[in-house]
Amino acid sequence: MTEQSSTRGATSDGTRAGFVAIVGAPNVGKSTLLNQMVGTKVSIVSPKVQTTRARVLGICIEGRSQIVFIDTPGIFTPRRRLDRAMVAAAWGGAGDADDILLLIDATRGIDDNSRAIIDRLTATERKAIVAINKVDLVKKPNLLDLTNDLNRCGVASEIFMISAQTGEGVPDLLAFLGENMIEGPWLFPEDQISDMPQRLLAAEITREKLYLKLHQELPYATTIETENWEQRDDGSVKIDQIIYVERPSQKAIVLGKGGRQIKALGEAARRELEEMLDVRVHLFLFVKVREKWGDDPDRYRDWGLDFNA
Ligand code: GDP
Ligand code: MG
Repeated sequence: MTEQSSTRGATSDGTRAGFVAIVGAPNVGKSTLLNQMVGTKVSIVSPKVQTTRARVLGICIEGRSQIVFIDTPGIFTPRRRLDRAMVAAAWGGAGDADDILLLIDATRGIDDNSRAIIDRLTATERKAIVAINKVDLVKKPNLLDLTNDLNRCGVASEIFMISAQTGEGVPDLLAFLGENMIEGPWLFPEDQISDMPQRLLAAEITREKLYLKLHQELPYATTIETENWEQRDDGSVKIDQIIYVERPSQKAIVLGKGGRQIKALGEAARRELEEMLDVRVHLFLFVKVREKWGDDPDRYRDWGLDFNA
């Protein structure tokens, strides 16, 4: 990001651009908001916490501004090595950004996770544009206390009320972010919505389906890799993916009785891939057992994470 920033300042005809890091406790709706703003599915959304592993860019054009969003993994108290790497990536993203958009869950208020983020922002003397999310779930008068609390801790340069799900309040937030960008040429080509390679995105889609179907039975230590991507003459795409699990018992769960589970999973993922790519997709899923992938440095590199964080 630093490289791109250094090319700024060149003359432009009223265009603006910049990076906005979306930070917030797990499950506040960061990915949902990003998808709402960018208008295309770029980051997976899941009811289970902590599914965003890598930094994802979503790019939004608002008037003459290009807003580049960084969707960070939820910032939380790290325990395992993988968690530490994710938290380091999250703060790295925030540090590089021009603006920080802090999401607070209206139903949870300032919980311990949010408090930790606010404290860290305050310690580094950074202000955040705060968006209170999920306002569709609470009565408006109840938001007054939360707004007062946020004003009191002095971290907010601005406070917005939004519902990432319904889109309420999102246009106002976007308009503000757009005006707040730095004058200069755009940072990415106009048609680019995400810098996430298609293969990785395709793996994310399958991972989302897996979580939605099996979140009770599977640990986070499940990973999916797109092994092969083949453009066919008839315009369709053949995609091979491997679902890595840690134990044979997990493999059995993913496969399901008579392979029924993986078949349903593949169907759901294929449909979404076809929608995204706008071509016919042949998706082949394989399940393999790979122990302790969470301690494998190569995996971290693949995900753009720092093994030694
Ligand atoms: P992240 O961990 O911060 O990226 O959170 P997600 O975007 O994955 O959202 C977590 C959960 O909250 C999902 O079940 C979303 O559907 C839900 N959610 C997100 N935004 C809203 C909202 O504005 N209203 C409601 N009712 N649910 C939301
Ligand atoms: Mg997320």
